[in-house]
Amino acid sequence: MHPRSFLKNSFTKLMNTSAAPLYRIFKIKRRFLPDARIPILTYHKITDIDFGVDAFWNVPPSLFARHMACLAAEGFKVLALHELYDCISMKAEIPRDSVVLTFDDGYANVFRYAYPVLKEYGFPATIFLTGDYSGGKNLYWWDREVAERRPDLYEDVRVLNWDEIKEMQSSKLITFGSHSMSHQHLGQLPRPRIEYELRQSRAYLEKRLNQPVRFFAYPGGIRAYGDISEETDLLLVESGYQLACTSETGRNSLRDNLYALKRIGMGRNDSPSLFRAKLIGGYDWVKWPQRAFHGMFKNPW
Ligand SMILES: [Zn+2]
Repeated sequence: MHPRSFLKNSFTKLMNTSAAPLYRIFKIKRRFLPDARIPILTYHKITDIDFGVDAFWNVPPSLFARHMACLAAEGFKVLALHELYDCISMKAEIPRDSVVLTFDDGYANVFRYAYPVLKEYGFPATIFLTGDYSGGKNLYWWDREVAERRPDLYEDVRVLNWDEIKEMQSSKLITFGSHSMSHQHLGQLPRPRIEYELRQSRAYLEKRLNQPVRFFAYPGGIRAYGDISEETDLLLVESGYQLACTSETGRNSLRDNLYALKRIGMGRNDSPSLFRAKLIGGYDWVKWPQRAFHGMFKNPW
């Protein structure tokens, strides 16, 4: 196993072992200290696939259902991303114990496995689509590797087609944002290309969806890896977006920058107890070792 994956997996195992006491400590802390920070969860593929460069981020359908059951059991209020936008932009109070659900890359497995569960609970979510991939037959490069090794898994790695997107759109439960055109490290691209990735994806998705696309999620989403730069910060606003999600770890408060919202990545090792701990801030400190980690290893993407 690559040292990067080894360290990442070992760290998550350590987190899992400490999740239950961590959850209890943070639960007590919450009782005495008001905590208005809201987690935005990031899911990618909802699948049982346990190999490939992105396997860490694959969440099995059964585990996803347990995560959602946890939210319902703990009484969490699932807000749509536009509701969080309204709270932050108007500095209105964020409802207590709320959470936002997002899915990056626009996978068909989200329609197949996550959407029925979201409907069952009435939980809204945002799916970030890429212009060049959505609705087409092309696979992301990391999924091509999986499909070449196991052609029978094509259905689990393909992206959403427009029928699936339209069906979810008509439910009003799912909204769509942009994840750029071609899923590159935006901060490393020349200015005209960044403009294209931002503007063209928005225009294309608005035309296909026939509704405004207001929100963006950075591919990669880590500043230290060159996914975000001062130039992308600027161009994002100029391109007409109202909000952007990164992949920097943490929860968000009313004071936070709407164009650099933090999120919490969900993966196959997120047991229900670790999931619960992450929701209430037990994972916020991870941003520090994560920064060191980003400095130690080069980005595999
Ligand atoms: Zn992505």
